[in-house]
Amino acid sequence: MKRVKIYSGKRSKELEQISQISGQRIQDCIQCGKCSASCPASEGMDILPHQVIRLLQTGELEKVIESKTIWSCASCFTCSERCPRDIDIANVLEAVRLIVIRRSGENRIKAEDVIKKIDDKMPQQAIVSVFRKYNK
Ligand code: SF4
Ligand code: SF4
Repeated sequence: MKRVKIYSGKRSKELEQISQISGQRIQDCIQCGKCSASCPASEGMDILPHQVIRLLQTGELEKVIESKTIWSCASCFTCSERCPRDIDIANVLEAVRLIVIRRSGENRIKAEDVIKKIDDKMPQQAIVSVFRKYNK
């Protein structure tokens, strides 16, 4: 069955990027609220994780970008573990942060620059993370 994109508007390109960077199907969220209920950082958030996903579904990216939530997230992955729809919410929030960084013009490093920074002591996981985070 073909999946339908439910968001549109002038920021739709960035919303597409959030899906691409995070690799998550935001449209699969059923708004059960488990992510928000299990988030240990929710007290410092002005928009709860399930609300973030809903805003992204409806194309209201600016509200998410302007929220405290994206910077309050501790990337603990509890929400991602609990989601019944297998949405990695922590990764979605990371993708939103990356969009903010890209907008500011300090967005990425080239693959060749990453290679120059690699040394023997750098864990493989960190190298992969750097490529994933800044080279897309
Ligand atoms: S736990 Fe998953 S399905 Fe439930 S509201 Fe959060 S993102 Fe949506
Ligand atoms: S990854 Fe972020 S949003 Fe998810 S439970 Fe942890 S602090 Fe909350």
